[in-house]
Amino acid sequence: MTTSAGAGQRVNWAGNITFTAPEFHRPATLGELRAVVGRAAAVRVLGTGHSFNEMADSPGAQVSLADLPSEVEVDSANSLVRVTAGLSYATLAARLDRMGFALRNTASLPHISVAGATATGTHGSGTANQSLSAAVTGLELVTADGDVVELRRGSDDSFPGAVVHLGALGVVTRLILAVVPSFEVAQRVYEGLPLEVLDDHFATIMASGYSVSMFTDWRAPRLTQLWIKSLVEKNLYAPPAMGSSAPSVTPASPVTEEPWFAATPAPAARNPVPGVAADSCTEQLGVPGPWFERLPHFRPDFTPSAGHELQSEYLLPAHDAVPALHALRQISDRLAPVLQICEFRRVAADDLWLSMAYRQDSVAFHFTWIPDPSAVLPVVTELERQLAPFDPRPHWGKVFATPAAGLHARYDRLPDFLALARHYDPAGKFRNAYTARVLER
Ligand SMILES: Cc1cc2nc3c(=O)[nH]c(=O)nc-3n(C[C@H](O)[C@H](O)[C@H](O)COP(=O)(O)OP(=O)(O)OC[C@H]3O[C@@H](n4cnc5c(N)ncnc54)[C@H](O)[C@@H]3O)c2cc1C
Repeated sequence: MTTSAGAGQRVNWAGNITFTAPEFHRPATLGELRAVVGRAAAVRVLGTGHSFNEMADSPGAQVSLADLPSEVEVDSANSLVRVTAGLSYATLAARLDRMGFALRNTASLPHISVAGATATGTHGSGTANQSLSAAVTGLELVTADGDVVELRRGSDDSFPGAVVHLGALGVVTRLILAVVPSFEVAQRVYEGLPLEVLDDHFATIMASGYSVSMFTDWRAPRLTQLWIKSLVEKNLYAPPAMGSSAPSVTPASPVTEEPWFAATPAPAARNPVPGVAADSCTEQLGVPGPWFERLPHFRPDFTPSAGHELQSEYLLPAHDAVPALHALRQISDRLAPVLQICEFRRVAADDLWLSMAYRQDSVAFHFTWIPDPSAVLPVVTELERQLAPFDPRPHWGKVFATPAAGLHARYDRLPDFLALARHYDPAGKFRNAYTARVLER
């Protein structure tokens, strides 16, 4: 086991957070992990550090699970996979695909850990695609006293409260995820769609592919790019919807290379940020390929070790998408100077208490900012004021200013989540400055 107290600086991927935890542990076995947790007064897990705020920091011990042996065990009869928590989606996806299975959806970047991503309600896009957390059907957790607890969907009413847990219930060591048979996707990029087209066609365009992303830099009233990821027609199988609230999926109609809703097909591969090279991006131009090499925007074999950006994101009811877009347009002159790119996605409702899409088919407005917190934070505050009429739920892992009182107003089950956290962690060992800021009124 590696333990370093104060040796070297640990920062998150974006470099905007320097972790202050005085102890850092990399246990190599479950026994070592249980011992660290059992004796620590305070402990938090560091996943792959892709969150943009202080949520993975700890006033005591910070633990990485990267040295625990990795496992991927498929239960094909039940369409489930059991994975170790520290595994990245990039590693998991390639192994799953070799066994003929797929995850229903992915985030834009595959390098994030399964445990870290599902802890924050991370999502991709798709009118029928729920958050990645909604695929979790089981969790194995080391709780405050070092005990191992297994939770399964259906075995306890509080399971939907335990999946998006913000690191506050314990250390997740294994997860069980629902899988589907492997499938193929082709993605095409279109450019220059006037924003006013969205007034009447937002829902139609969002439903025109399996996973759709709209991008704008807010420097002109148009989408800079529209990414449409479609199921390839030869798929004999369309992944079924998971969970009760997601509608069933049919393969999207093939998108032609004609101008489409006044947008034109991009003649070459694109990066979502205009002018940036596309070599880090997944293959486009309609070339079919496996799900895990098309659903993320960024290639699994391209590993950015650090990011020169900050991110914020807000989910709000899908039926408010168009008025919310108008509200954003009113402050486009404030957004544009600090923005690299803004992305709109769709996320289907789920039943996870702290999911940003909890019981709400949602539109997600994502902002990739320039890496300058002093310039970005005032704009984040203004953005939140502008979106306030739509009760936006900020992405738990990104930059936001909404105080705990505002979050309590947007999450009915937050008091129940706090009771669950007290149940597993009565002394508050897994709390930190972040949980105080966002959960405690
Ligand atoms: C370039 C980039 C692209 C992104 N794209 C998307 C996207 O498409 N969609 C989206 O929704 N989000 C996206 N995100 C945000 C990202 O998915 C989340 O911040 C996610 O939580 C990061 O996972 P991580 O493994 O890095 O977790 P960390 O940032 O390391 O940790 C996140 C939280 O989970 C806790 N945690 C981690 N592992 C465990 C564990 N084993 N047990 C208990 N608690 C744990 C940590 O303590 C912390 O509270 C993106 C981020 C980046 C940098």
